[in-house]
Amino acid sequence: MLYNSDFYLPNGLLGNVEGYEYRAAQQQMADAIYQILDSGHLGIIEAGTGTGKSLAYLYPAICFAKTKQEKVVISTNTLNLQDQLLNKDLPGLRKLGIDFNAVVVRGWVNYPCWARAQDFLFTVTNSIEEKLVTDLIAGLERQEVTTISDCPDFSEELWEEVQAESDLCTRGKCEFYEHCPIFINRRLAEKADLLIVNHHLLLADVSIRQKLGWDTTAVLPSYKHLIIDEAHHIQDVATEYFAVKVSPVRLSRLLGLFYRRRKDRGLLNRIRQQVSKSLSEAEAADIFQLIDWHILPQIRVVDDVGAKFFDELAKYLQERNGADPESLRIPFRQGIETESVLTAYDLLHSNLRKWEIQLEKLLEMTESLSEKEGFESLFYLEAYYQRVVDFRVDLEFTMDVNQPGYVYWLKAMERQRGASLQGAPIDVGPLLKENLLFQLSSVIFTSATLSVNQDFTYFRKNVGIDFEEAWDLVTLIFESPFDYQKQVFMAVPKDLPLPDSSNYPEELANKLVDILALTKGRAFVLFTSYKMLKEVAKYLRTVGLEQTYNFLVQGEQSRYILIERFKVEPNPVLLGTDSFWEGVDVAGEALSSVIITKLPFTVPTDPIVMARSELILELGGNPFRDYFLPKAVLKFRQGCGRLIRTKTDRGLLVICDRRIMDRNYGETFIQSLASCSIENDYLDKLKQEVNLWL
Ligand code: SF4
Repeated sequence: MLYNSDFYLPNGLLGNVEGYEYRAAQQQMADAIYQILDSGHLGIIEAGTGTGKSLAYLYPAICFAKTKQEKVVISTNTLNLQDQLLNKDLPGLRKLGIDFNAVVVRGWVNYPCWARAQDFLFTVTNSIEEKLVTDLIAGLERQEVTTISDCPDFSEELWEEVQAESDLCTRGKCEFYEHCPIFINRRLAEKADLLIVNHHLLLADVSIRQKLGWDTTAVLPSYKHLIIDEAHHIQDVATEYFAVKVSPVRLSRLLGLFYRRRKDRGLLNRIRQQVSKSLSEAEAADIFQLIDWHILPQIRVVDDVGAKFFDELAKYLQERNGADPESLRIPFRQGIETESVLTAYDLLHSNLRKWEIQLEKLLEMTESLSEKEGFESLFYLEAYYQRVVDFRVDLEFTMDVNQPGYVYWLKAMERQRGASLQGAPIDVGPLLKENLLFQLSSVIFTSATLSVNQDFTYFRKNVGIDFEEAWDLVTLIFESPFDYQKQVFMAVPKDLPLPDSSNYPEELANKLVDILALTKGRAFVLFTSYKMLKEVAKYLRTVGLEQTYNFLVQGEQSRYILIERFKVEPNPVLLGTDSFWEGVDVAGEALSSVIITKLPFTVPTDPIVMARSELILELGGNPFRDYFLPKAVLKFRQGCGRLIRTKTDRGLLVICDRRIMDRNYGETFIQSLASCSIENDYLDKLKQEVNLWL
């Protein structure tokens, strides 16, 4: 199937689709995508809202994959975009007679493991859980169950008991291998033209390839061409992916794999059952003695000393009482020097070692049984033992704090006691460069927001494109086809205090009463901190705004429910932080106003942020210019981008942070937005102008 640019013309194939509007930028972007894939280059393409970005890369990617017989991987950050590709864009292309094979590849834990489900039934004591897992197995037999979405009644805890996991899978040796959903999916992936994945899975595959090489099947089959959509997230996902974390939750999950008192469940219970069924009393005695007298008591000790250790970390965090009470950076190479933490660490570490030694003994004693029928759980013993070792190694790593290029910190747990210990690479650029960019023939990054003032320097640095020589780098910006001059009224009220002033939340709430009235609600109010959101919500409720509008406040319901309610309820006002600045698509009058309460500068006390700005300083850069400002501008563009989703949308954009007009850097924010008229005046005056405009 040869690529034909005419596909996008009004008299081309796409022109047959009802409601199709020709967009020159979409066609140009598609041409560029095909060119980059074909010539083996690297591309950074920014495509403004409304360009039709996904169709601009799907069609050339399919044509390229079919003609060259080479797979193209498409990676997205959000499920929303994946759903759009799968349920709208790809079926739409098929309807036009374009023949291709696209497969979504998900991470292991999204699939059920038939063998684990079967094994679970041996120890289950709860009849509801037994019924659910029995139905799951019946569904697997009928090939009706494929992923977690086919099991909506499973609790998170129950799903964890039956989910597929790489280290617990016996692969070819498993009796269900041929009919196992995850391997059916992986076999389909081998034959696919397009593979649709998310950024996490992409990086999981990369980390396996670091060891196995690029010409083999890791999570994904071998591939050489990659398109990363929502690419502005790749740095954060990579940082999270390469981070090391030890937490009370991780330890309690680990302990629960072996033994759960309340539910009489866990691997040791299963091994006990198998041993007592298959071996004579005398043969079983030694194994029982090891489990009952040594391993189980040791698990209780690890549980206790682990809780003590994480509590000591939390105490240490509180006592330091730094600028950010939620997290605290641990000095590089120096580490935590407080006696009580070090004593608790030694105790946990030595008891983890003791536990490992006991498990090694159990593995040794059961080695001859592992090949026998009915002793499949001994395979899990080996895998769980490895997880204990990994936990101890990660604990050493995060307490040693001496890996060059890493930043280490403590973080308070959100809903429980204790604090977690974490370590992450300060700069993921070199990791992405070596392990991804240099391994592939072509890579294209795309998103609606990658540049700051038409400049990609910040993004390039984040993803490791600090070289020119190896590839020709193609950078392109396709402006949105929307007429922002006509569609947006941007207002900056002069009469608000600076966002850091103590009276700002109250003043903001007072002004919001008037601002919200302009569009009868139908507004997103975007915050940079949950604390301020809660304060403002309280003020607005005190003045009775709940009687006028449908008040939707982040934290009071799930994000999904809040957005769905916003779309259908009259006069909604949604107050949201981070996750509402992007990925929310409400077209038409339903969303008539976006109110930015504060320019979204990152908190400078965040340990990763601190370490990144220090690194920039060390290399002779300017942290504000090279990091804080571009990061804030990109987020600001995302937030503002919620307002206009179609050519017919019109709306009011209010920036309640007057630094955008008063400070030098404000210009960078303004210039990064598509041009629209800006009014900077007292609110009473602005209200008159907005009313005229509306
Ligand atoms: S092949 Fe692996 S994931 Fe599939 S059922 Fe068997 S053990 Fe589970």
